[in-house]
Amino acid sequence: MLDSRLSDDERNALHETYEHLHRNPELSMQEHRTAEFIEQRLDALGIEHFRCGGTGVVGVMRNGEGPVIGFRADTDGLPIQEATGAAYSSTATGTLPDGSTVPVMHGCGHDTHIATALAAAALLRRQPEAWAGTVLWIFQPGEETAAGAAAMVADGLWDRVPKPEAVLGQHVFPSVPAGSIGLTTGSAMAMADSLRITVHGKQSHGSQPQDSIDPIVLGAHMVTRLQTIVSRELPPQSPAVVTCGTFHAGLKENIIPDRAEFTLNIRTLTEEVRERVLSAIARIVNAEAEASGAPRPTVEEIYRFPRLYNDDEHAEQVRAALQRELGEDRVVSLPPAMGSEDFGTLPDSIGVPGVYWFFGGFSAENEAPPVNHSPFFLPDPEPTLSTGVRAAVVALGHYLGKA
Ligand SMILES: [Zn+2]
Ligand SMILES: [Zn+2]
Repeated sequence: MLDSRLSDDERNALHETYEHLHRNPELSMQEHRTAEFIEQRLDALGIEHFRCGGTGVVGVMRNGEGPVIGFRADTDGLPIQEATGAAYSSTATGTLPDGSTVPVMHGCGHDTHIATALAAAALLRRQPEAWAGTVLWIFQPGEETAAGAAAMVADGLWDRVPKPEAVLGQHVFPSVPAGSIGLTTGSAMAMADSLRITVHGKQSHGSQPQDSIDPIVLGAHMVTRLQTIVSRELPPQSPAVVTCGTFHAGLKENIIPDRAEFTLNIRTLTEEVRERVLSAIARIVNAEAEASGAPRPTVEEIYRFPRLYNDDEHAEQVRAALQRELGEDRVVSLPPAMGSEDFGTLPDSIGVPGVYWFFGGFSAENEAPPVNHSPFFLPDPEPTLSTGVRAAVVALGHYLGKA
């Protein structure tokens, strides 16, 4: 039977790896040094690998006849100035698509994902007699921009490896305490759509509204009426979020501007609700423009995150395996999260089950742990990291382990 516990040397190596990654974060789709570091570690473990989707790395770990299982770890950092005060804080910078230089931080904990996946690979490597089959270690770039999983699939990921029976993944998360696992059956995380709406008005002097089509008044009506989609058009049992996150218009108080621009973020759990919300947005913004005698607004998609759906049967099997290993009280059921992530692209693109869980990052005594993307996000290294390794080994062992 696969042992999920680290030796002292393995735990030390895990922490060293984690601190190195934490010090050296890179922005989405620019994970060049991170990819090289992962390749070196895979070489040291004797795992063949290839690049995929630019800065993605796939390790193919073969150990005789048996099932093929994918395990995904995302690798990107965020444009955040770290404020944790950790000895291994990041001082890295990166360049955004607009050319600006920004500080970079592993503010979502993806460094813990890489480090725990590499340590889990080392544990499997040490115990070849305890399992059989093939693990696809999928080190995915660009999760934060929803670009990485799609880039790997477009780069022929699934043509270059044996097809897996399931794809697994995990994320460090403050909503469960360190040492515990949170798992959702069915819809686990929301789809996300981001839109930019440009409202076209007619510019005039602020004292002559009769010569204008005021895009600020028009845009304000749009934003207000958009609030009725969730409250008045959807059944209360269908979760959805429509948030207007930015609204920009005008330069001076005595000029009615010629345009206003706002951005929307939409979260839904099913394709049916998503289509309803998107068509309601189009209907409302077009009708409000018509009510003002304005041209139709321009609607552009900024990005889209896919669904994250945990196959019921597989999720329950993985839950049972985790409960046996960690204890029942250490495996918590979570409701669907309205946050989003692009993991679902990997299993959904080949129609296989996906199972994705959260491992806790902060001790139960910490009453207000920082949230992901906070400049203070710094998981307690233990038991966070060891638990991430154990969860990975146990879930893989469920599919590949010998009794
Ligand atoms: Zn994130
Ligand atoms: Zn994340």
